[in-house]
Amino acid sequence: MTEKEWLTEQIRERLSFYHSITGLGFAREARTEVAPTAPAVVAVPRPDAPLSEKPAKPAKDETLEVIRADLGDCTRCVLHEKRTHLVFGVGNLNADLMFIGEGPGFEEDRQGIPFVGPAGQLLTKIINAIDLSRDDVYIANVVKCRPPGNRDPEPEEVAECRPFLDRQIDSIRPKVICALGRVAAQNLLKTEEGITRIRGRIYSYRGAKLVPTFHPAYLLRNAEKKRECWEDMKLIRRLLNEHSS
Ligand code: SF4
Repeated sequence: MTEKEWLTEQIRERLSFYHSITGLGFAREARTEVAPTAPAVVAVPRPDAPLSEKPAKPAKDETLEVIRADLGDCTRCVLHEKRTHLVFGVGNLNADLMFIGEGPGFEEDRQGIPFVGPAGQLLTKIINAIDLSRDDVYIANVVKCRPPGNRDPEPEEVAECRPFLDRQIDSIRPKVICALGRVAAQNLLKTEEGITRIRGRIYSYRGAKLVPTFHPAYLLRNAEKKRECWEDMKLIRRLLNEHSS
């Protein structure tokens, strides 16, 4: 492949992602033209087989229903005081890919479902851009009740809620976890490094590969970061493909 051809492919890939996450519906058609290998970057090979054809996972230690029942009408931290709904999580109970954000926002608190506001709509487009749907993945947050004014959750609030998230991860057993944004990534990885420094790399968490990236709400305010997000999504797609092949 010549340098010109390689550059053309890079431009086409990025344009495809931008079109996809801005809702112009161009990504799938364009990306099928991209060669499966390219030098110096992580390529996005197409899945070898539908995810549904993979062998079933071993039996779970406990189900999400049991975990939800244990949470009950939780008052373990002060975040319960102003919540409208406890936002447990949503998606495929056997998902290979799990997204974890920091906490519910206004719309999520109102509906009781994670990532349903404008940032959630962008997350849906990002998921679609790697040839998955929301039904294929599981989505949860580090804390399950909305911090007032969308402030960062306090360490003691995370400490109370985190065991339930860990139990959800252990039940779902995802192959890959995508930590969305600084708060989620710092809490899961126990680091104070900024998201710009820790994104784009592969970490390990509870048996899964963890890849941090920017929070969709941040991407809505900083469109220039979508390019790096796309690199992270390609990495996640590659990890999923390695698992399914
Ligand atoms: Fe309970 Fe978690 Fe809500 Fe705190 S944030 S009240 S620990 S469910």
